[in-house]
Amino acid sequence: MTVPILAIVIPCYNEEDCIDRTTKRLIEVLNELEKNNDISEKSFIFFVNDGSQDKSWELIEKYNKETNGKVKGIKFSRNFGNQKAILAGLLESYKYDADCFITLDADLQQDENKIKEFVDKYKKGTQIVCGIRNDRKTDGFFKKFTALTFYKFMNLLGVHIKINHSDYRLISREIVSVLQTFPETNLFLRGIFNELGFKKDYVYFDVKERFAGHTKFTPFSLFTLAINGITSFSIIPLRFVTVIGFLMSFISIIIGIHSYIMKLIGNCEAPGWPTLAVTIGIIGGVQILCIGIIGEYIGQLFQEVKARPRYIVEKELG
Ligand code: UDP
Ligand code: MG
Repeated sequence: MTVPILAIVIPCYNEEDCIDRTTKRLIEVLNELEKNNDISEKSFIFFVNDGSQDKSWELIEKYNKETNGKVKGIKFSRNFGNQKAILAGLLESYKYDADCFITLDADLQQDENKIKEFVDKYKKGTQIVCGIRNDRKTDGFFKKFTALTFYKFMNLLGVHIKINHSDYRLISREIVSVLQTFPETNLFLRGIFNELGFKKDYVYFDVKERFAGHTKFTPFSLFTLAINGITSFSIIPLRFVTVIGFLMSFISIIIGIHSYIMKLIGNCEAPGWPTLAVTIGIIGGVQILCIGIIGEYIGQLFQEVKARPRYIVEKELG
């Protein structure tokens, strides 16, 4: 096997405090691997500036010049979100002939010393190498709890994603070309890579504390990511709506028959209003929940049907 060209793809949203240290450290890692002939000297870092309002892009430009193109990048016209930034990084860096691609966060929370392990697995013929976090020590209780619930729920829906999966992963050039055939707007990359097949392996890594800046995810953006993940991979929630509707109708018919028989045998008491109120409340709640679930899928369809570009590249540095 010839020595592979590695592209390190990094999504960035307001990461001016991280870019310096991250770039220097990753160049060190690349140099080390190049020196040992693990990867080609044409390997590079590819930043995706996801609509940062700070100096992130200026820093990327500076490093692009200083390193003679070892640091490359694109600039989105606005913020499109982390999943689209990762996707764009893979699709747009493809033209620089990389053989394999690693996606990594700009804050280097994911252990960069494991890059060699990813590359070694790739060299053994693995097409997708997924990074799995050893633990969630750096997450607060809320994030830990919601993440675990999400993975359990996805497993229940038949989408078997490993718990503690992350977006730290290596994929081969062939996988990126497969990814080019996925036109969907709402992407949940962890789900997609899980479904592709191909030879897969895992690398376990420790998560460090963020060395600068703060998390760019809000509870709302995490919730959106989770809903996207569910609605783009499973229609079981829609089946749940059908089953609930069926059950509710069945129960109503039984209650109706029961009341009629009670009336016939003259044992008809005036039902208490609290029972009635609670029943109406529950039925109303379930109906709204069901409309909400259907609405989520209609929302997905709405976005997919419009088929707008998933991201807009304003500038490019090769
Ligand atoms: N990110 C992005 N666009 C966004 C939000 C985040 O490109 O809208 C990037 C961010 O700059 C970082 C990565 O995605 O490189 C992961 O974000 P962060 O470290 O804030 O997430 P956490 O580690 O807290 O889950
Ligand atoms: Mg982080």
